[in-house]
Amino acid sequence: MTTDFRSELLASGLLVDTGVDGLYGRSGTFEKVVRGVDDLVTSAGTDQRASVLHFPAVIARHVLERSGYLRSFPDLLGSVSVFEGGDDLHAELLERLARGGNWAGLLTPSDVALCSAACHPLYPSCSGRLPAGGHRFEVFGHCFRHEPSLDPARMQAFRMHEFVYLGDPDGAVAHRDLWLERSADLLSGLGLAVDAVIANDPFFGRAGQMLASSQRAETLKYEIVCVTNPDSQPTAISSSNYHLDHFGIGFKIESANGDVAHTACVGFGVERITLALLGTHGLDPGTWPSGVRSRLWP
Ligand code: ZN
Repeated sequence: MTTDFRSELLASGLLVDTGVDGLYGRSGTFEKVVRGVDDLVTSAGTDQRASVLHFPAVIARHVLERSGYLRSFPDLLGSVSVFEGGDDLHAELLERLARGGNWAGLLTPSDVALCSAACHPLYPSCSGRLPAGGHRFEVFGHCFRHEPSLDPARMQAFRMHEFVYLGDPDGAVAHRDLWLERSADLLSGLGLAVDAVIANDPFFGRAGQMLASSQRAETLKYEIVCVTNPDSQPTAISSSNYHLDHFGIGFKIESANGDVAHTACVGFGVERITLALLGTHGLDPGTWPSGVRSRLWP
């Protein structure tokens, strides 16, 4: 069913097929909606007095290692390999390429990887002691998740817009709860039929089942879900996540009193929100309800 919506998005030119499931070019109209969503999220967080940071799609490999992502989601990660050979290996590379062989097998893993979550590259820059009251950041980032799908809401490459708190446990819980409410208001204000649910992340393997059940039992993470097209199941378009001391330990971050820092983040999936808007209000943003348009483009 999701492929019908996908076909409409491709036929209208809003998304451009790259030949790989879950990887798209985006039209100027699509990006205009993305910018409107980004601006709305930014304006919802002006009271946070957050430091703004933009990160690229590629991160240091040690960040991926220390983030815990290899333990929880090895099936979704991506790392970057490069060519480091000489003339002989180059000749073999070209020979394999010519016969459609596995040329990538001749590459060497580099010291960079693809970013899995927009807030991950932030944490190493916060190692050490945080100021009293903690630190808030507004983070823009590109993410990769290896989950090829025909559902346009499940892209392999997408952007996340986050507000991140680093500090003490009470501050982290308050950040998660404030933004859960705020993101539900923001998204329902765009005419989206949203619901807040306890998250059920697809942790990998047998050990992952334990991680998933403790995540649910401790209600660490909530998602705002919305139908991104009339025929599909609801998809998370925003999530509000309390990480306990996970990143504080992994990246040696301390709160002002010297305890291990606790962190929380809210993430807005700007492509998914854009798709939810297109699915709800139609493929031509020019015809959307004026209340929605004035919020996105005041
Ligand atoms: Zn995050």
